[in-house]
Amino acid sequence: MDRDRRADDAADHWMRLLEALECDCAGCDGTGWTLNAQWREWQQRATELVAVAHAARRAHELRPAQVPGGIDAEPAIVAVVERAIADHMRSRPAEPEETVCDACRGTGRQLTPAGHLFTDLLARHGFVRQW
Ligand SMILES: [Zn+2]
Repeated sequence: MDRDRRADDAADHWMRLLEALECDCAGCDGTGWTLNAQWREWQQRATELVAVAHAARRAHELRPAQVPGGIDAEPAIVAVVERAIADHMRSRPAEPEETVCDACRGTGRQLTPAGHLFTDLLARHGFVRQW
């Protein structure tokens, strides 16, 4: 019984130590993947265009009624923005949307300061492989 508890305590100790040596990669938030820069710009532009389209529609809906019973044509700005969105959708980047994170080589993990100290110690004794 005591031996089992000591083994569990030792395992917990080692788990805590290992957890202190690495953390989620800051370059990819631990996913191992990063969004291609061209895709990031494309998505940002798409978000902006959608926001402009919403604002134009909202402005159109909120304007005072014009001619009762008259034809309620969409304002030209809405058509222009929708055309810009359609053009933007056709101009998606050709590259893959995500690539393996350069910082962590896709592992999603990076060494903490304590982890660097530990790997330096291992390297001094020849136990760490060089990338
Ligand atoms: Zn990463």
